[in-house]
Amino acid sequence: MRVAVTGGAGYIGSHTVVCLLEAGHEVLILDSFANAAPDVPDRIAGIAGQSAQVMRVDITDRPALTDALTGFRPEAVLHFAGLKAVGEAVEMPLEYYRVNVAGSLELMRAMEAAGCHRLVFSSSATVYGDPDVVPIPETHALRPTNPYGHSKRMVEQVIEDWGVANPAVAAVNLRYFNPVGAHGSAQIGEAPQGVPNNLMPYVAQVAVGERPHLSVFGDDYDTPDGTGVRDYIHVVDLAQAHLAALDLTGREGGVQAINVGTGRGYSVLEMVRAFETASGRPVPYEIIARRPGDIATSLADPSLSAARLGWKAERDLEAMCRDAWVWQSYLAGKNSG
Ligand code: NAD
Ligand code: UDP
Repeated sequence: MRVAVTGGAGYIGSHTVVCLLEAGHEVLILDSFANAAPDVPDRIAGIAGQSAQVMRVDITDRPALTDALTGFRPEAVLHFAGLKAVGEAVEMPLEYYRVNVAGSLELMRAMEAAGCHRLVFSSSATVYGDPDVVPIPETHALRPTNPYGHSKRMVEQVIEDWGVANPAVAAVNLRYFNPVGAHGSAQIGEAPQGVPNNLMPYVAQVAVGERPHLSVFGDDYDTPDGTGVRDYIHVVDLAQAHLAALDLTGREGGVQAINVGTGRGYSVLEMVRAFETASGRPVPYEIIARRPGDIATSLADPSLSAARLGWKAERDLEAMCRDAWVWQSYLAGKNSG
């Protein structure tokens, strides 16, 4: 198949492009490189043994997007491009709505112009807000608590309405839980700019000696050890869920939302210990106050993904930590060299 991938040079997008190329698909990456290194496409080619086409395009630029899609004539689009930092979204909501919501609208209009109606969208478990029940089923109420989460909910709504208006539309909104890890080749991974917001990259930077200690945001939650529990998923498992979702859009029309997680949770302190084991390095930490807006526990109910996608996560916590460590060690060597 010909598949266009917005944000295909980013963290999750790059791993998915590797899987697409390895499965024999023809891929066009559309990325502004706002949050991706310019050599990512070459690294993808090095792993997959094949190249993707690449166009530097901003998804908010409809003429450029339309030219790209009408030229490539994709059979499906995987849509990763967007802004993703919750704290930044609270400070810059207009920019988040412009890129995430207006950019997604431009993408759908460009897809219409190119006669393409198969779409897989990167949504997030953040659309659920503070859940009433865990594990969280897809039928749970959607009540995001910040502009980033609202932007994901809004795009899901637009896609649903597009599907009602146009019977040709076949789309899957994938609600990711907590993606971590990196490709086992240590050629691609997550390279946060500045201080990492997320736990795993922060822990990795402490283990490698770039930061003195981890601040654990609260140990008084209603969880077994008092620290927050999350459903971490290896990024390569997540990438493979996209191939399964792509297949689903070929089998069935309409719009569906599907969780992508493992259903198994780990606390902050369990993550610290697992990372210490994988890296052989200490991860000193201190407990500080809760981070505003955090919830105690977030866990996917993975039964719909198993039933609809025929997919389930295969990589365990040890693989997540090991691959994150190998990638972090590579980054540290690159930065010091
Ligand atoms: P990322 O920042 O690594 O990747 C996003 C890519 O989009 C980058 O390559 C960036 O250069 C590109 N991009 C940004 N703005 C663009 C624009 N205006 N036009 C074209 N390209 C643009 O992020 P990621 O972690 O790979 O996340 C991918 C998607 O998954 C995002 O939509 C994110 O909101 C969503 N998501 C991520 C997580 C997570 O924890 N990483 C969790 C849930 C959902
Ligand atoms: N966390 C922490 N210290 C950090 C970053 C995160 O204690 O420096 C905790 C956070 O409170 C949450 C868990 O780690 O319980 C996962 O946080 P992350 O930001 O990675 O994911 P999210 O909260 O968005 O699910």
